[in-house]
Amino acid sequence: MPSTKAADVHAPAPASASASSAELAELVYRQLVLLGEDPERAGLVKTPERVAGALAWLTRGYAMDARSAIGEAVFEEAHESMIMVRDIELYSLCEHHMLPFFGKAHIAYIPDGRIVGLSKVPRIVEVFARRLQVQERLTEQIAEAVEEVQRPRGVGIVIEAYHLCMMMRGVEKQNSKTITSALRGLFRDDFKTRDEFLRLAHGPIGA
Ligand SMILES: [Zn+2]
Repeated sequence: MPSTKAADVHAPAPASASASSAELAELVYRQLVLLGEDPERAGLVKTPERVAGALAWLTRGYAMDARSAIGEAVFEEAHESMIMVRDIELYSLCEHHMLPFFGKAHIAYIPDGRIVGLSKVPRIVEVFARRLQVQERLTEQIAEAVEEVQRPRGVGIVIEAYHLCMMMRGVEKQNSKTITSALRGLFRDDFKTRDEFLRLAHGPIGA
């Protein structure tokens, strides 16, 4: 087993990755041919390797998990009010077309004796966004991970994203944003908490 920490995005690729990367590059080469291109022309000579590398990077979340992404950054703390990290940048690939979708995630939770370092919260998003995804599942997986790692009294996630598969393919939804949410614990059961969260998540700051 490679000993590199799963959460380290700068970790060198394990040895087996270079073999599968060469195979992936061959497939991209073939793809270019099938698209009617000449993979040997100057501009495309290195494209298969580049695409293989980009795909590996864009799906590196498969080699990560939320617990190691957060590491030791969970602290005992008596804080009992809502903690929210807004406007976390998010880039993912839709699993239906392997085209990007991108936008922002807003994550809130009410701790139950444990808080997590704020800088670690975006890492949870990375773990699940850097895979082939659908926005609905991504939202649920982030909520589940926050719940599992921190065991809070409640967690709320809102993701707003633009999907290039809709925008680029002439579906005439060029400007439509898809919004998904996942509410658990107090965010689901307590009206006031849910209301406060949704107001903060959809509020004007940074909109
Ligand atoms: Zn799609």
